[in-house]
Amino acid sequence: MPMSAVLTESCFKSAAVGVFNRPQGLHFFTNGTAPSKKNCSFQKNKTAMRKLLLFLASLFIFNNSHAQQSRFEKSNGKESATYFEAIDWYKNLDKLSPQVLVKEMGMTDAGYPLHLVLVSNDGKFDPGQWHKQNKAVILINNGIHPGEPDGIDASMLLVRDIVSKKIKLPDNVALAFIPVYNIGGCLNRNAYSRANQNGPLEYGFRGNAQNLDLNRDFTKCDSKNARSFTQIFHWLDPHILIDNHVSDGADYQHTMTLITTQYDKLSADFGGWLKEKFEPQLYAGMAEKKWEMVPYVDFSSSGPEKGMEMFYDPPRYSSGYAALFQTIGFIPETHMLKPFKDRVLSTYALMQTFIEKTSANATELIAQRNKARAEAVKERSWPFTWNMDSTQSTLITFKGYEQAFKTSDATGLQRMYYDHDKPYTRQVKYYNVFKPSNFISPPAAYIIPQGWSAVVDLMKLNNVIVQQLKNDSMMEVEAYHIDDYKSLPRPYEKHHKNSSMKVSVMKQKIRFLKGDYFIPMNQVANRYIIEMLEPTGDDSFFSWNFFDAILQQKEGYSDYRWEDIAADVLKNNPDIKKKLEDKKAADPKFAANGSAQLDFIYRNSSYYEPAHNRYPVYRLE
Ligand SMILES: [Zn+2]
Repeated sequence: MPMSAVLTESCFKSAAVGVFNRPQGLHFFTNGTAPSKKNCSFQKNKTAMRKLLLFLASLFIFNNSHAQQSRFEKSNGKESATYFEAIDWYKNLDKLSPQVLVKEMGMTDAGYPLHLVLVSNDGKFDPGQWHKQNKAVILINNGIHPGEPDGIDASMLLVRDIVSKKIKLPDNVALAFIPVYNIGGCLNRNAYSRANQNGPLEYGFRGNAQNLDLNRDFTKCDSKNARSFTQIFHWLDPHILIDNHVSDGADYQHTMTLITTQYDKLSADFGGWLKEKFEPQLYAGMAEKKWEMVPYVDFSSSGPEKGMEMFYDPPRYSSGYAALFQTIGFIPETHMLKPFKDRVLSTYALMQTFIEKTSANATELIAQRNKARAEAVKERSWPFTWNMDSTQSTLITFKGYEQAFKTSDATGLQRMYYDHDKPYTRQVKYYNVFKPSNFISPPAAYIIPQGWSAVVDLMKLNNVIVQQLKNDSMMEVEAYHIDDYKSLPRPYEKHHKNSSMKVSVMKQKIRFLKGDYFIPMNQVANRYIIEMLEPTGDDSFFSWNFFDAILQQKEGYSDYRWEDIAADVLKNNPDIKKKLEDKKAADPKFAANGSAQLDFIYRNSSYYEPAHNRYPVYRLE
């Protein structure tokens, strides 16, 4: 793959300038606290002087930030920045440029704060104002998997090049970068944990300071990182989220692949606009830059002959989470076997393409998202299950390598390899249409007893409006009974996750207490609320074990004592007696099992605890 035009060879070869001097006589921009970005009175009252100083500063910045070279460049694309180098890099750009502001935004599990780098041409860093000015907001997340550091280094170069005016940031786009999201993993630097990957020489580890995979943590929020991210996400309210990664899996010629969030969750119109209008421009933009991109490559081990399927991204992933708030999520995945240098440059080119195409489509992007958010407030039927439609596909141009077999030097057995002497270009079927099913209507409101505050805390973190009952109140509500579910026998990301939930609905009168939570379903966050609170959601709070305490029966009986009471129960409740007799008639094994019959009577009597398997999130119609 040829060198991209974004960085010249001389850029890699020129002498390192490790420390660059602060400008003398431009203290207004460089005194560390960057008052030009924070002092409102100056911005309001001295616009003309500010413009002059910005112009003078830009002349100075061009000369100085251009000289700032990263470890990636100094090593000719062989090394990736350390965590501390990355943060220092942005702090230096902050000091140099009124376009850049570095903020600390919450804590991480590693004991270091999460940094956010804001970039805007007008030197104003209030996302609320950005939205009022109709700027499109792009959030770029790096180093969620620090063994895949391409985005860390590419973002450093991109912000430097925006500051030095090598790259133009359009006025109608504002950027926010998380320099390193998984700080604990980035500090755990090594040369081995990405066994299949072609560089850099050293990189971080996938697990964070709790050994969690942060790209499974967006709804359960076990990490401080995820909680801080949640606050950043809602503060920015971005139109687009880009989460930079490196692939695993098959070998092929393309350097850059892209996961686009499953279109339909954004709403039919917004998803359609993304699929038909915006996404094709990204692919065209990358082809123009000589980085021909394909959708994330996912085919069976035999090869792409049977086609490739679009990646389905439930909300545990960054892109699936973003979609719950009508933010378009993209996961760039560079190919692990391409040299680190090419991977970083293609990541740079893709971010540049995102900026260009976002600017060109900003008016439509903003209008489409606003419409989708307005629809979310009123939507009366949400699909919960998506299955690939095997009858609908499109063709993509895929550049692969032929597979072949030879004797393994490691095992002496036959092994598969990709033959680089036999490249090919083929049209491959790409399945990217999902059929929705399992539609659920939102209630007027959900009611959650206050004991379950852990989920309510996460909902508040996600800007959900939560009210509390002012008085004890008896209300008729819909309650789910958890009829069946499966739990993982071994932990997955710290949880024995529940799946295959089967529920039945019961109308019940329940006494709620003053202070219990009341969540009206007339909110922009409706999609998030319903996805998290309906127990059958892919990554619902129920699936992630937040409600597992209801699955355990707390009281019981001794058979010898219950025998007498059970007889009274049957005598006084002919309906229970009939149910028992019917079941005995239908099930000979049951008819011969005294313990099973005692349990049946218990579960149908008033003695059985109502809370067992009753899901404690109630639907108020
Ligand atoms: Zn990854």
